[in-house]
Amino acid sequence: MDKYLNKHIFKIISDIADSEKIACFVIGGYVRDALLNRPSKDIDIVVTGDGISLAKKVAKKLGNTKVTVFKNFGTAMLKTPEYEIEFVGARKESYNFDSRKPVVEDGTLEDDQRRRDFTINALAISLNKETYGKLIDPFNGVSDLKSKLLRTPLTPDQTYSDDPLRMMRAIRFATQLNFEIETDSLQAINKNKDRIKIVSQERISEELKKIMLSEKPSKGFLLLEKTGLLKIILPEVDEMKGYDIKDGQGHKDNFLHSIKVLDNVAKNTKNEWLRWAALLHDIGKPRTKKFQADQGWTFHAHDYLGAKMLPSIFRRLKLPLGPHLKYVQKLVALHLRPIVLAQEQVTDSAVRRLLFEAGDDIDDLMTLCEADITSKNDEKVKRYLKNFKLVRKKLKEIEEQDAVRNFQPPVTGEIIMETFGIGPGREIGVIKNRIKESILDGDIRNNFKEAYQLMLKIGDELGLTLKSNKIN
Ligand code: ATP
Ligand code: MG
Repeated sequence: MDKYLNKHIFKIISDIADSEKIACFVIGGYVRDALLNRPSKDIDIVVTGDGISLAKKVAKKLGNTKVTVFKNFGTAMLKTPEYEIEFVGARKESYNFDSRKPVVEDGTLEDDQRRRDFTINALAISLNKETYGKLIDPFNGVSDLKSKLLRTPLTPDQTYSDDPLRMMRAIRFATQLNFEIETDSLQAINKNKDRIKIVSQERISEELKKIMLSEKPSKGFLLLEKTGLLKIILPEVDEMKGYDIKDGQGHKDNFLHSIKVLDNVAKNTKNEWLRWAALLHDIGKPRTKKFQADQGWTFHAHDYLGAKMLPSIFRRLKLPLGPHLKYVQKLVALHLRPIVLAQEQVTDSAVRRLLFEAGDDIDDLMTLCEADITSKNDEKVKRYLKNFKLVRKKLKEIEEQDAVRNFQPPVTGEIIMETFGIGPGREIGVIKNRIKESILDGDIRNNFKEAYQLMLKIGDELGLTLKSNKIN
């Protein structure tokens, strides 16, 4: 395993550990990722002895690099330009039922490996000269890496009950690495699912984020559903499951549809928030669902309701409530508009209104809408995509012509006040709004001259008198 230790830093740690006569290993995620050929920035070093003192000596050797010591945890961390390296003494853990924080005591390397969540995360490589590069794999982690299997060193039931965050980690690793979770583990997760409540929302959401940013996030959401965790952490998504049939008419399973849309979007963007919009775009459907004899299944205004449901979901998940939420709300609220455009006659004014409302997010909205076409009917898909091409073309033409994407009123409130010699008041809003509407409807062009003429006309209608005139 020497080939995984060719970085200079390992030699430095090795030399110092030897001269201090302490056994020292690189362990966990770094080893796993090295064997999988994945880049990683964190290195965990475990020693049988004092990790903090070793860290300080390594830092000194590196030229007085700063060491951050967490005395309570017995760990020390230092940063090199390439890596974040954490040093810790080997330890043994035991848990209380009501907390995921263990009681810790000094232990052997094997004790330390046994407390880790998965066999593939329990691999260690020796750094001492005599055994440099030797792999220590008491739980057959390498074999699990080869068969792409997530297995726990201890019994699954104990592992997940001790620290329920591991349930999220299992699903996250399965998604990130495209591994399978061993059947016993899946059962244990299902059994212990309610214990997720002792894990802080921040930690749960961190794992959700990693699932979200994986190449094929649907895998994670299917596992969350299968284990019963989805219902606890994202009940609104869980509610989208299944379908009803009435008078021989069914509708699609909106959960399966949504995670398909999410995968489709994931092929085109790494934007986490566009991915959230994909997962949540139909979130309003279960609560707007109706069967109407003449129309079949309908979900009227699910776009509107969906956008309205988002703030409470974001708040609960502790996701950011500022512009990211606004962005996702906008995409959810507008997600039907391009489809309507593509189905009907694409009129200039409809395109202009969509551009006005979507602003700079128009391209992301189009990406979402194209991903939303998950029909099994190839002909239908082709037709839709062709129409979308047309919509995109039209969007470009109208934007070049009318520049409404980042609409700024061509006549300002100041100009209105000055022209009619009035102070701030409701007339200003009335005039500005009518000018905006006229531009969006295509009655006037988006320029100062036409807007100014219209302003004079509206002012006249409102009984305002002219004080100064910019034109003529
Ligand atoms: P990543 O860095 O991609 O999140 P990782 O496996 O390196 O993956 P870390 O959180 O960096 O995860 O943890 C480093 C190591 O610590 C893991 O490989 C694992 O051995 C151990 N570990 C982390 N969290 C837990 C946990 N909740 N239970 C048991 N062992 C854990
Ligand atoms: Mg790590």
